[in-house]
Amino acid sequence: MTEAEATPRTGKRVLLAKPRGYCAGVDRAVQTVEEALKLYGAPIYVRKQIVHNKHVVQTLEAQGAIFVEENEEVPEGSTVIFSAHGVAPEVYEQAKARSLKAIDATCPLVTKVHHEAKRFAAEDYDILLIGHEGHEEVIGTAGEAPAHIQLVDGPDGADKVTVRDPEKVVWLSQTTLSVDETLETVARLKQRLPLLQSPPSDDICYATSNRQHVVKEIAADCDVVIVVGSTNSSNSVRLVEVALDAGARAGHLVDFAHEIDDAWLEGATTVGLTSGASVPDDLVQDVLAYLAARGFGDVEEITTANERLTFSLPQELKRDMKAAAARG
Ligand code: SF4
Repeated sequence: MTEAEATPRTGKRVLLAKPRGYCAGVDRAVQTVEEALKLYGAPIYVRKQIVHNKHVVQTLEAQGAIFVEENEEVPEGSTVIFSAHGVAPEVYEQAKARSLKAIDATCPLVTKVHHEAKRFAAEDYDILLIGHEGHEEVIGTAGEAPAHIQLVDGPDGADKVTVRDPEKVVWLSQTTLSVDETLETVARLKQRLPLLQSPPSDDICYATSNRQHVVKEIAADCDVVIVVGSTNSSNSVRLVEVALDAGARAGHLVDFAHEIDDAWLEGATTVGLTSGASVPDDLVQDVLAYLAARGFGDVEEITTANERLTFSLPQELKRDMKAAAARG
């Protein structure tokens, strides 16, 4: 009998958000490292954390992945995988100069924003990139057109922007921002730049929006919302903020079930639970078991969207896999 089955009914419950956890871009990036390890053998070098999740990184390390910060740490001629967050063009140049075999695990939805940046820069627009300073994705996107892009870090950043021509300016964004805060930033920008153009399609990705949407649905009913995710995961951190903004009495981010403080559950009847886009569901199941052992055995899954999107592996990897299969 499991802990959950042994737990008597207490009136306490968990509202489990769906969608939660792995998105298509993360799934592809993690699979890229796993398949590369199988195909080329360990070690495989990965520039930056492949996705922002401690558990995923530790698991891949145990399989033979070596995570580095920069290409200079990768021995010449080795294989290096670029993370899901994307890289600036100069990173490809550095890899080439060191004769590295580069495999690009950048999420296609981040690549889409890179293409937008290149296109608007080629048309000589000023580009206002809404995002968090220092985040890898923002560094990568800004690197596509550094002379044209300025970072706008939240609504207050909107007041500092200066542009050459207020009729030729567009905003783009990091994929993992708070949807509501971004709208606020855009509104502030538009007060000063009424002709500001919007991206051709949403830059905040489907996974980020969907996870925020379901958390908003459950938050007001929750005494506490627990988000499984790492502190450097932008979309996970946003989920805690969104939960609090939407009425949760408390919100906490944990990497693992054992990080939960029992004091958070004192007096609570309803616990909300979700996870960031880089979090495998095993970690959520661990939290459910932890909660069940503390009387929160009733679990209701609240679904606001069903995600079916998948991305195929990077071309360069698929080509080598096909060649290896043909060799038998
Ligand atoms: S969160 Fe969105 S942009 Fe980031 S990897 Fe997932 S699908 Fe791609």
